Amino acid sequence: MIYRQLGKTGKQASVIGLGCEHLDRKPYEQAQETIAEALDHGINILDVFMPGREVREYIAKALGNRRNQVMIQGHIGATDVNQQYDISRDMPTVQRYFEDMLRLFGGHIELGMMFFIDSDKDYSGVFDCGIADYVQKLKQQGDIGHIGFSSHNPATAMRVLDTGLPELVLFSINPAFDLYPAEKYTLDTFDEGIDASLFRGLDPQRAALYTRCEQLGVGITVMKALGAGKLLSPEHTPFAKPLTACQCIHYALTRPAVSSVLLGCQTGAEMLDALQYLKASDAERDYAPALGALRNDFRGHCVYCSHCQPCPVDIDIAAVNKYLDIARLDTTNIPPSIRSHYASLVGRSGGCIACGHCEERCPFGVPVIANMAEAEGLLR
Ligand code: SF4
Ligand code: SF4
Repeated sequence: MIYRQLGKTGKQASVIGLGCEHLDRKPYEQAQETIAEALDHGINILDVFMPGREVREYIAKALGNRRNQVMIQGHIGATDVNQQYDISRDMPTVQRYFEDMLRLFGGHIELGMMFFIDSDKDYSGVFDCGIADYVQKLKQQGDIGHIGFSSHNPATAMRVLDTGLPELVLFSINPAFDLYPAEKYTLDTFDEGIDASLFRGLDPQRAALYTRCEQLGVGITVMKALGAGKLLSPEHTPFAKPLTACQCIHYALTRPAVSSVLLGCQTGAEMLDALQYLKASDAERDYAPALGALRNDFRGHCVYCSHCQPCPVDIDIAAVNKYLDIARLDTTNIPPSIRSHYASLVGRSGGCIACGHCEERCPFGVPVIANMAEAEGLLR
């Protein structure tokens, strides 16, 4: 397993995590088998938003004495008051559901997530109705280790970041969502299908959210990396051909600030399939060819795909471009962590010999040589 720093939490998260939603309403044996496979392969982050008592009990029981091997990403505000999954901002209800989860998982939830902040109404429901105060109290009491939130909307997520409260965000990331204009509510695509005619290159608001998270030290965990399977389906994919799960996972993991991609596996076999990512070759992970048909939409913008490698002087071009994009957000106030990440790269952009091989290979017309010089000027 590969582990990554989860923002400023000080925790290391496995790059593949388990989203437990598909274990809902499944027999205990199935939950047990899926979770055992995850733990046996070093997965240490489990997302549990489901409010149902039975699935929570099954997960807790399946973890058993291995509970301390994982971080539970537990959601505050997910309820099933009317026998179905719901969002509540009513404090007594929110408290009742969360305290029940707390008891089931041994009195501590490592990552306490303010649930589903997508709209201005959601924002106000969390920040004006006591939930944000409640999570801060939970953290002070040690009931939760870190405060996070979940969202599918880059503009609202940015508002939440501006409060300075969260240390992590669970966000929906995949290549199709990133190509939609930020105004498009991507969850609608699950009913409507993905409309590629709306694609206009990587949406700047989404890109800015990821770089802002990296700048602030807010870790991102990823949901919907496979677009509910639509990106893998010949019938539903918006691209010239379906992406593979490995390409989708790699796309999410190459966004700034991303620590872990949570996959909704419901059997041990599905968990093993997802873990194949760890054994995949660079060519199998490379998503640039799949996006190549849309190359004009990306013109000049690095998507961090590494298709331009190798570099004769060992510069990690995608990483340098990523740090440069973060530095460009505010060139007078570049986070020390970004400078130190840059300094720790084996090949630094100052060593660029302007051979041009990368620019020939880049499908998206990125001015790599100019970027390397700019990065060295800003980050050295
Ligand atoms: S420069 Fe081009 S090929 Fe290289 S990582 Fe960026 S987008 Fe990919
Ligand atoms: S132009 Fe610079 S960054 Fe690109 S391959 Fe050559 S040395 Fe590496």
